[in-house]
Amino acid sequence: MEWDDELYQDIVLEHYKSKKNRGKIENADMEMEGFNPSCGDDIFLYMKLDENEKVEKATFDGSACSICTASADMLAEAVTGKTLAEAEEIVKAFKGMLIDSKDPEFPDELSDLEALQGVKNFPVRVKCALLSWDTLEQMLKQREGKK
Ligand code: ZN
Repeated sequence: MEWDDELYQDIVLEHYKSKKNRGKIENADMEMEGFNPSCGDDIFLYMKLDENEKVEKATFDGSACSICTASADMLAEAVTGKTLAEAEEIVKAFKGMLIDSKDPEFPDELSDLEALQGVKNFPVRVKCALLSWDTLEQMLKQREGKK
């Protein structure tokens, strides 16, 4: 799939513009900052869990480039309603797609994530696309460690 594929560009743009998952969650169960020095992306990721430890709400804010912002928005959409174990699996699949060029096997509801696979042809931008996912991974590890 080419990066200049119009459909994929539209999906990325749509997520970049979306305000649905922006902002801070007060009393978040999990929160973490992610910084990407090569671009200057600086984001904060917030998660609120329900009583079954499923992600009730995920948001982000901060200052980041379009790819990083779109990717963080996709992340927030992707993990909402998921258990933390499921969220971890999505992180693995997403990183596999961008780092190891694995063919992603996302269910239909997560197919938007495939719109970012063209980024792997631009190593500098891969860091932008991965920032929120790396941050989520750290956040999940930290929570594991606290148990
Ligand atoms: Zn960036």
